[in-house]
Amino acid sequence: MGLLLTGASIVFPKEKAIKKWDLLIEDGHITAMGPALTRSGHTVRVVEGYILPGLIDVHVHLREPGQIHKETIETGTRAAAAGGFTQICAMPNTTPVLDTPELIQEVVQKANTYGYATVHPIAAISRGEQGEALTDFAALKQAGAVALSDDGRGVQSAKLMFEALLAAKSIGLPVAVHAEDNSLAKGGHLHAGKVAEELGIRGIPSVAETSMIARDLWLAEEAKAHLHLCHVSPAAAVSAIRMGKAHGLPITAEVTPHHLLLTEESVKTFGANAKVNPPLRSDDDRLACVQGLLDGTLDLVATDHAPHTDEEKAKGIEQAPFGLVGLETSFPLLFTAFVKSGILTLPELVYKMSTRPAEVFHLSGGEIFVGGVADLTVIDPETVRQVNPAAFYSKGRNTPFAGRELSGWPVLTIHHGQVVYER
Ligand SMILES: [Zn+2]
Repeated sequence: MGLLLTGASIVFPKEKAIKKWDLLIEDGHITAMGPALTRSGHTVRVVEGYILPGLIDVHVHLREPGQIHKETIETGTRAAAAGGFTQICAMPNTTPVLDTPELIQEVVQKANTYGYATVHPIAAISRGEQGEALTDFAALKQAGAVALSDDGRGVQSAKLMFEALLAAKSIGLPVAVHAEDNSLAKGGHLHAGKVAEELGIRGIPSVAETSMIARDLWLAEEAKAHLHLCHVSPAAAVSAIRMGKAHGLPITAEVTPHHLLLTEESVKTFGANAKVNPPLRSDDDRLACVQGLLDGTLDLVATDHAPHTDEEKAKGIEQAPFGLVGLETSFPLLFTAFVKSGILTLPELVYKMSTRPAEVFHLSGGEIFVGGVADLTVIDPETVRQVNPAAFYSKGRNTPFAGRELSGWPVLTIHHGQVVYER
């Protein structure tokens, strides 16, 4: 006895196609698709809207172990399910840092017991993310790590980064970099631009990010290793990546919804909830990110979901921690901004939020096919609702998008054939 979904249209991102077909799920897998499947013996569920391959977010901060007042693996994966994500990659800057095989296994096992979404941990490049000694990449991969990153801080030593790229190449994992040169960022809080100047707050210049990206592009070329650039934000970085790809460098890149939709001006309205690292930059930078996403220079969208408590964010711009939550708003934000307005087609957006993330991080998923695991998201393209942080499954309420009217909300999320979210 299976679950037969009928009434919706199925999105095939690779074919750029949408077909009004039935879809049958049995034993956690898709076992049939077609215009009118036989219903007898199955539970028939009428759904409206579009069925997408489950979304995949390669940049999430789950905060467990160690900072469970901000988020737990349980609340973070429930938030993922509510946002239409069936697979997420968890960054290692927890307490302790995910730098041993035991810690990696623990995250995977905990996520499996809850079952809301598959969690692929990303292991630290350096022990304790201290930027000094490499972790044991092979053992971390064996334990389930899908990439290496010291996210939250840049790897300051070019030598260590080069060694990391060589070691990662030998085991076939990408190195995902948070590009930030501390000697240039100098403990700034906002983009070094007109708003930081106006508010008299120390800024983080774009060159703190672009100079490290430029360094890492050529280290990746020298090592012939897969470099993945996290949360790209300045226009010059998009240009550098475009040039690098034209040179055939083995690089991929991500952009966040907030860098696509917001600018430095947002802190005036949303205060510390718009404080994020890398910072929201100028409108020219934002437009360069949009252009980069459209032409494929920036491969995919990742949320950089970074929950903090209201108390932490209430400390004011200079004292509050960096980060904002993204799992529960990303798809409707981008559906509304880009698909509703005709800038991207629905299959194109799904490609950048599911298919391409799977390809870049060597994950299964990102496509709908007979025989595939039933990781699926149904979205409603019509109903307009406001972003309401009070209703988030995430413990974090820190979003600059509160009150925005959006459509494209997930209404049903299926993980391994099980309904894990339903509106
Ligand atoms: Zn980062």
